Amino acid sequence: MTVPGVTGTGRVWDSLVGQRAVIDALATAVGGHGMTHAWLFTGPPGSGRSNAAVAFAAALQCAAGGCGQCHECHTVLAGSHADVAVVRTEKLSIGVDEVRGLVRSAALAPAGRRWQILIVEDADRLTEAACNALLKAIEEPTDRTVWMLCTPTVEDVLPTIRSRCRLVTLATPSAQDVAAFLTRADGVPAERAAYAARASQGHIGRARALARDEDTARRRREIVGMPAKLTSLAACLRAAGNLVAVAEEEAAAVTGELDAREKSDLDVSYGVVERGRRPREYAPALNALQKAQKTRAKRRVLDVIDRGLMDLVSVYRDAIALAVGAPGALVNEEIRDQVAEVARTGPELNLRRIEWIFEAREQMLEFNVPPALALESMMVALQAPDAGGAR
Ligand SMILES: [Zn+2]
Repeated sequence: MTVPGVTGTGRVWDSLVGQRAVIDALATAVGGHGMTHAWLFTGPPGSGRSNAAVAFAAALQCAAGGCGQCHECHTVLAGSHADVAVVRTEKLSIGVDEVRGLVRSAALAPAGRRWQILIVEDADRLTEAACNALLKAIEEPTDRTVWMLCTPTVEDVLPTIRSRCRLVTLATPSAQDVAAFLTRADGVPAERAAYAARASQGHIGRARALARDEDTARRRREIVGMPAKLTSLAACLRAAGNLVAVAEEEAAAVTGELDAREKSDLDVSYGVVERGRRPREYAPALNALQKAQKTRAKRRVLDVIDRGLMDLVSVYRDAIALAVGAPGALVNEEIRDQVAEVARTGPELNLRRIEWIFEAREQMLEFNVPPALALESMMVALQAPDAGGAR
């Protein structure tokens, strides 16, 4: 009898892009070789850490090693399997109470006959107390418990936790792999898929958004079009303002719906809708929610700006590649003419420009400099590299 999962051909693995080695290792564990109670999934943003964990969970619960068709597979992938808990958070940190709840369910025997699986998507956001609670649980696992933690890098969790986990390292998928996935999974036409795969630089979620959503693609076009336009002080200030505006627009597109849903959940739980009046405890609760939403919105804007900066970096890197005659397609192939223009200013200067972009990023993310301010001085630096006084 062949078990599909053992050879890594089970359908649940189809959503993992460019991760052959990871799939083979996980499928081997499903087959019974090298199985352990704690796993740490690491990989760059968008490489599919939590997708890999969820696929692994499905393969473990499925009698056929991850067929993708059965009830077990379907419920795990849909997030409704009784023996698979997934912690994902919109908050900045995961507290000890949440982890204690998980630890309690980890101690239960699985309702089915297989595993009790607990997936923590953003394990880098665990508070210290939460980490310690988790550590204890991982140290003394029950027979059928499997923990799966997901973080960008191994440095994001305590060494004590790391040393108890088997490490799964996801790679940045190649543009070819991403493009093929977009065509296979979403039916994206080849040319559009190739563009989205290149422009996303291996971030699957981003690639899907660029392929499917014209607004997302337009916002990216605006950003990568900036370097060629930074020809005057006014143009630089305009570019900085545009980048902030684009980021706010994109962040709002994501958070708007979520904010509204949380508010209506709150209203329901306090009976505001039903009884048509507001109990005394409602106002402080609403206040706390609005504060949390504001923090999240601010973080989202920064995340989007951050990605915008990486898009800018991609233009200067393309310019360097062009100047030194490196082979291969540009990330920004569709604006090759503009890249060539930027390339004419010389690779040394473009390297320095990349450094300035990282400096601005550090100012915003580490030193809380307001984005508008940091971006204005950055754009001016990108335009007038020789005018030291401008910096
Ligand atoms: Zn199945």
